[in-house]
Amino acid sequence: MFYYSTNKQAPEVSLEEAVVRGLAPDRGLYMPEDIRPLPEDFFRDIDRLTFQEMAYRVARNFFGDDIPADDLQRIVYDTLNFDIPLVEVTDRIYSLELYHGPTLAFKDVGARFMARLLGYFIRREGGRTVHVLVATSGDTGSAVANGFLGVEGIRVYVLYPKGKVSDIQEKQFTTLGRNITALEVDGTFDDCQALVKQAFLDADLNARLNLTSANSINVARFLPQAFYYFQAYARLKQLGKADEMVVCVPSGNFGNITAGLFAQQMGLPVKRFIAANNRNDIFYRYLQTGHYEPRPSVATIANAMDVGDPSNFARIRELYHDRVEEVRAHISGAWYTDEQIARTVQEAYDATGYLLDPHGACAYRALQENLREGEHGVFLETAHPAKFRDTIERIIGREVRIPERLRAFMQGEKQTVPMTKDFADFKHFLLSLPS
Ligand SMILES: *Cc1c(COP(=O)(O)O)cnc(C)c1O
Repeated sequence: MFYYSTNKQAPEVSLEEAVVRGLAPDRGLYMPEDIRPLPEDFFRDIDRLTFQEMAYRVARNFFGDDIPADDLQRIVYDTLNFDIPLVEVTDRIYSLELYHGPTLAFKDVGARFMARLLGYFIRREGGRTVHVLVATSGDTGSAVANGFLGVEGIRVYVLYPKGKVSDIQEKQFTTLGRNITALEVDGTFDDCQALVKQAFLDADLNARLNLTSANSINVARFLPQAFYYFQAYARLKQLGKADEMVVCVPSGNFGNITAGLFAQQMGLPVKRFIAANNRNDIFYRYLQTGHYEPRPSVATIANAMDVGDPSNFARIRELYHDRVEEVRAHISGAWYTDEQIARTVQEAYDATGYLLDPHGACAYRALQENLREGEHGVFLETAHPAKFRDTIERIIGREVRIPERLRAFMQGEKQTVPMTKDFADFKHFLLSLPS
């Protein structure tokens, strides 16, 4: 299968090239040239498949032309070595808990898949070291760092905004050592993202280093997230409640929800999607006005969604032919202030005993406010509440239990390279690396 750029000014490329490049040379995002529907019997029997079996069938649809069946199956099964349960919160609202992976955030699946795929390509080609650059507002960095930890032939550089991620998030990518280096940037997440984007377009750097991205723009990170939506449907089908499934996704760069839109185009019966945001309401405004107007991000308690120019918007535009009416027909929007998010965490906890994290809280609330008669809602719970422990404890006024996996990270020692938001500094650092 070939991949084309959303900007249509760059040649089509193979899967391998799309994965290694990350961003297309014309600054567009890669899209698979077609999205093939899955057969009817797959959906009929889906509730009898295991998560791994189901995910493999989905993966084959995209990657089956490029990777031999055995290798692809191994990559998928190895990526999904943890469960993704669907948990009832109310009689109509279910939480798809995506946080049972190594870093307790949903980005584990995409990161683990990409690391294994890239590792496979490097082994196959016997190629030189690949340098992975990743900008993070919190959870991407830990998922990518842990997903790639110890993978031979790959070195990872995590750029994050100094002082703007939680302690626990920071520990998860600054304490690993080995092939992982954390760069502490004096700036915002958007500055980090800009540095990474500029590096990929810099001729000197690309001549010297084999650079690639692990941000959610990368097809190998973004497409495997489609697995979640099949899982939501299969588990809801087991309960006899899948007929009018509405899926609500807490969104920042819109990679996760875009994977859901792909799943729908593969035939998955999702009635509609809701994109839930914090005060960074760029997408919501686009739905209202038809104009896409990026703005600098503002800091919120759902900080993994503090994004002022969602990169995957280009893919959404492409899917729906740049027509806002078509986008509106598939996705509606909602956004909440920090106060509303906090109240939602508190109220859900009091009423149901279910503890939301600030991101999942946006999505839960959007379902509460928007679900119609006969519909069942699934929201993606994208991180474990303990990852935002201080915020959550302040809201509910009691201690949040820290899972063992998270506690282990807290014991490591932070090691970072300080960096300004000046591209010249970043370039100098990269040029000093062994190629
Ligand atoms: C990354 C992240 C999001 C946003 O996902 P996108 O794919 O960027 O829209 C939401 N919640 C959490 C906890 C995240 O880490």
